[in-house]
Amino acid sequence: MQFSSPEGEHRYADLVRVADRTIVGLDFDGTLAPIVDDPTRAHIHPDAADALIDLAPQVAAIAVITGRPARQALDLGGLEEVGDAIQGAGKELFLFGQYGNERWSSRQRRIVSPRPPRGLATFERDLPRTLRQADAADAYVEDKGLAVAVHTRRLPDPGEAFERLLPPMRALAEAHGMVVEPGRNVIEVRSPGAHKGMVVEKLAAELDARGFLFAGDDLGDLEAFEAVTELEKTGLAALRVCSASQEQSALLPLADVVVTGPSGVVGLLRQLRLDIMQSSAIG
Ligand SMILES: [Mg+2]
Repeated sequence: MQFSSPEGEHRYADLVRVADRTIVGLDFDGTLAPIVDDPTRAHIHPDAADALIDLAPQVAAIAVITGRPARQALDLGGLEEVGDAIQGAGKELFLFGQYGNERWSSRQRRIVSPRPPRGLATFERDLPRTLRQADAADAYVEDKGLAVAVHTRRLPDPGEAFERLLPPMRALAEAHGMVVEPGRNVIEVRSPGAHKGMVVEKLAAELDARGFLFAGDDLGDLEAFEAVTELEKTGLAALRVCSASQEQSALLPLADVVVTGPSGVVGLLRQLRLDIMQSSAIG
């Protein structure tokens, strides 16, 4: 464990003091699980499960926050078993998949997906008129549950229809609080993207946390770091941990602690547990 500044060391000590009200948030790939060539084989570090189980009784909750679908992360992490052990100790393990669009916890034991975004129904109601006005009434509309996709592939000139449709669809999407995601002869409309920062913010509020540690390794973790920094401004103890790798260094300048990959993260979790136990023995 290497503190990137004297402040980092102070922040760590502050976090230890409010450990029982602290949430430990962890990215999965590159943080708990080593990066491998085949992402379907990115299993959790062999010592990570025990480190999480041992740490859990000392903190408020542990949350794994990943871009992966929740089901995949549960399987690759063996997180249902880890959750059983943590739940047995009277604490809770959370797993947020697809950047927070899916939620699982050791108490609820099922993956909860979101309701369709709020603007989607009214967007769909207004869509036929927009298609008619753009002379694309025959475009194929695919309801994807959490999004709608308009395909121009079956129209006489798909490319031209796509170009013609994009501006009015973008305007309609924005009017309903949605965003467009253009693809190959398809315009998808969905809610503005979930991100890990939203998970950090919501979970801290839900559990009334007084501290938040987040460990990540990649660009998708930037929002979580930023959310932790926002919480810090409201008085929470905060610690940003970078699981460092050769490939990505975007988090380094923002981190309080830098460790080397998943083995370093496991080492930090173990050290944190010891420091909390020592601190409470003294206090
Ligand atoms: Mg990662």
